[in-house]
Amino acid sequence: MLDLNTIVSLAKRRGFVFPGAEIYGGLAGTWDFGPLGAELAHNIKDLWWKHFVRAHEENYGLASSVLMPEAAWKVSGHVESFTDPLIECKKCKRRFRADELGKLHPPASGCPECGGALGEARPFQMMFKTNIGAVDSEENTVYLRPEIAQGMFVNFKNVLDSMHPTLPFGIAQIGKAFRNEIAPRDFLFRVREFDLMEFEYFIREEEWEEQFDRWRKEIWAWIEKLGIDKNLVHELEVPEGERAHYSERTIDFEFDFPFGKKELYGIAYRGDYDLKRHMEFSGIDLRYTDPVSGEKFLPHVIEPTFGLGRTILALLCSAYREDEMNGEKRAYLAFKPAVAPIKVAVFPLVSNKENIISKARKIYLELKTNNYQLSTIAWDDIGNIGKRYRRQDEIGTPWCVTVDYQTLEDGTATVRDRDTGKQERIKNTELDKYFLEKLS
Ligand code: ATP
Repeated sequence: MLDLNTIVSLAKRRGFVFPGAEIYGGLAGTWDFGPLGAELAHNIKDLWWKHFVRAHEENYGLASSVLMPEAAWKVSGHVESFTDPLIECKKCKRRFRADELGKLHPPASGCPECGGALGEARPFQMMFKTNIGAVDSEENTVYLRPEIAQGMFVNFKNVLDSMHPTLPFGIAQIGKAFRNEIAPRDFLFRVREFDLMEFEYFIREEEWEEQFDRWRKEIWAWIEKLGIDKNLVHELEVPEGERAHYSERTIDFEFDFPFGKKELYGIAYRGDYDLKRHMEFSGIDLRYTDPVSGEKFLPHVIEPTFGLGRTILALLCSAYREDEMNGEKRAYLAFKPAVAPIKVAVFPLVSNKENIISKARKIYLELKTNNYQLSTIAWDDIGNIGKRYRRQDEIGTPWCVTVDYQTLEDGTATVRDRDTGKQERIKNTELDKYFLEKLS
């Protein structure tokens, strides 16, 4: 069984993920993406946008604000219901999620930290509240969004009026969400600030089951495209009573994380709950007009939702491998080339021969500058070749190019494959074509 610490330490050591504000002792529930994590996150967002937005002619992108007025969150139901049950220890004042505490530890036996008496469970508002402008008053209250869906509902009419879509159609966005989690934990799994990738797919009520099924299948296709091991993902039909306040049907896609089977993605049928509420309280007509019959009605909504941090964690866990190559133990990340933060690394065989170094630099710079898809390319001339291979394997670089004496004679270099360790000689002038073919 994979230990979460193995992933956390690899992620820190190799520049994927750092604790938030570490030099000040860290800020609980925040993590920062390092150079390789930022590349990985960028690749995932880019692939998601292509898969769910650009590949569908009826889907439109959006980028709405993080700050939204209190009215929007009252209407959406979040001010009243976006709470977790909280239990506080009367002695040490530590706070626990009542549902988690109940699972691990009977509350009657006291605080799991200090043994002190526990208080009653009470709802804890998870939205971060702040004020706009200089005056600290009720009217100036705003919230950092705890989900990105409302940005798409409040812009529904703007998209209708500017793009004139016909049903069914989707509005999608990628962006930050903030939740004042009572107990952030398990690395990137439960944090207080995270990116979501999500879309609202607007439909006619009678087609909801068919559309739910269609997007559920697309989520599986996405999991495959990304390279997360499908055997580690399981669907869970969320029973009534455990669903969010707006949902009439929800399926969670759970992943076998090292700390248990937990939600990675979700798909929910939100009915017309959100548009109806926003129309009622804003007084703005949000109905869609059928272009043929002229009938006016509120569309219903299917919402697939994807957490970026949980995707990165699932990918790291799913791609992590340990094996033996040439009699040496190694750890590597079997990322698909499309998500790998570095696509190719270029090495000079030796670091003290000027003609080999300058040839290798030339190949490296040509690959890096000639093609956008190969621009995330690394240079390494430290230590011996074996060590350089291990370093690249550990961060999931699919290919390494080594420039040697033969390169100077016949213009070929070795290309070594991360997973098999196999090497072949490729003409320098054909390297970019070779990699681009593999990347496509
Ligand atoms: P959970 O039950 O784990 O708290 P949730 O049901 O509240 O999650 P949703 O409201 O469906 O989650 O959020 C949509 C997606 O956002 C989730 O599928 C998950 O990928 C991600 N997500 C939710 N909360 C967090 C968090 N605290 N940290 C990181 N990602 C999160």
